[in-house]
Amino acid sequence: MTEQENESKKVENVIIIGSGPAGYTAALYTSRSDLEPLVFEGFQWGGLLQQTTDVENYPGYPEGIMGPEMMQQFRDQAERFGTRFVTDDVTGVELSSDGGLHRVFLGDEEHLAKSVILAMGAEPRKLGVPGEEELASRGVSYCATCDAAFFRDKPTIVVGGGDTAMEDATFLAKFAKDVKVIHRRDEFRASAVMLNRARETENIELLTPYTIDRFEAGDGGMLDKVVLANTSGGENRELDIDGAFIAVGHQPNSHIVMGQVDTDENGYVQVEGPSTRTNLAGVFAAGDLVDHTYRQAVTAAGSGCAAALDAEGYLRDTPPDAEAHWAGEPDRIEAAGEAVADSAAG
Ligand code: NDP
Repeated sequence: MTEQENESKKVENVIIIGSGPAGYTAALYTSRSDLEPLVFEGFQWGGLLQQTTDVENYPGYPEGIMGPEMMQQFRDQAERFGTRFVTDDVTGVELSSDGGLHRVFLGDEEHLAKSVILAMGAEPRKLGVPGEEELASRGVSYCATCDAAFFRDKPTIVVGGGDTAMEDATFLAKFAKDVKVIHRRDEFRASAVMLNRARETENIELLTPYTIDRFEAGDGGMLDKVVLANTSGGENRELDIDGAFIAVGHQPNSHIVMGQVDTDENGYVQVEGPSTRTNLAGVFAAGDLVDHTYRQAVTAAGSGCAAALDAEGYLRDTPPDAEAHWAGEPDRIEAAGEAVADSAAG
């Protein structure tokens, strides 16, 4: 695209990619700052909270709130101040490496922006074993909070050895007949307190060291059996189960920015903490896309707010080139002062 064509296109102040608590909070703050944000919220808008039931740990809701209802309210609040939404998935980005305009693509459609907030979140990691994909929602689940109640008095398993696996197993045990936690090593990654809670629960059994070889369906097409492979050369095992909950961590949805912004070895976007600045001027990142530790709705919302304030500051002080943006605070203040003096003189 030529410079002339660029000029004829609308240039957004800020494009937010992703919804969920981080994206919607960034939208709320930037819209209240009159930046008229454009949010690409994704076809399945609302992020992981759309898949949960009661949210009881978000401050301000003493009675709790359903995840989807909460996301609707986040969205409505951002819309009230003029946020525009596109309910579709971004197909690609070309982020400027020198503080220039960033390009966001929806198929052939191109959108230009002075700043971009990345808030694409993370999703549960898959095992990639036979039967897993076919039996998803037919006994294989990635969300115990959402689906545990469907397995009342049924035999179930949880796969994984971290805190999520222990939390899921403990929750699931309230409903299921029994829960076997399948972990690939004899040592658990989970914290002692969560591991002990699972150990002390009567209908939870820890089975190690096993990986999942495959899931098999019964006559009705629902999950019926799991085949476990012993990782230390022992006998394989087969278990009759109705439910399998996969809790082997999360995968950040960073593929569209991979190779453009700095990410860590697990694909999480890296920011210059405590800010939300990525290595690219004018590109900020928030929420589960960045955070593999806390991963809470409230922490994601907080970082979405920080990203909005960072973008706002960047747009206000955007100096003539990227170098100046990254210069230390005194330089930035001086640059901003000169800009003010110039405009006063003009
Ligand atoms: P983790 O990365 O901590 O654990 C993932 C587990 O899955 C590990 O035990 C890992 O095994 C196993 N695993 C990974 N890939 C595979 C695979 N392909 N096949 C079999 N097993 C696999 O993720 P969590 O989601 O459990 O936790 C993420 C973060 O969230 C942690 O910091 C945790 O402390 C935190 N958290 C805190 C909670 C709380 O405090 N209430 C609740 C839930 C999470 P291995 O150990 O061999 O690598």
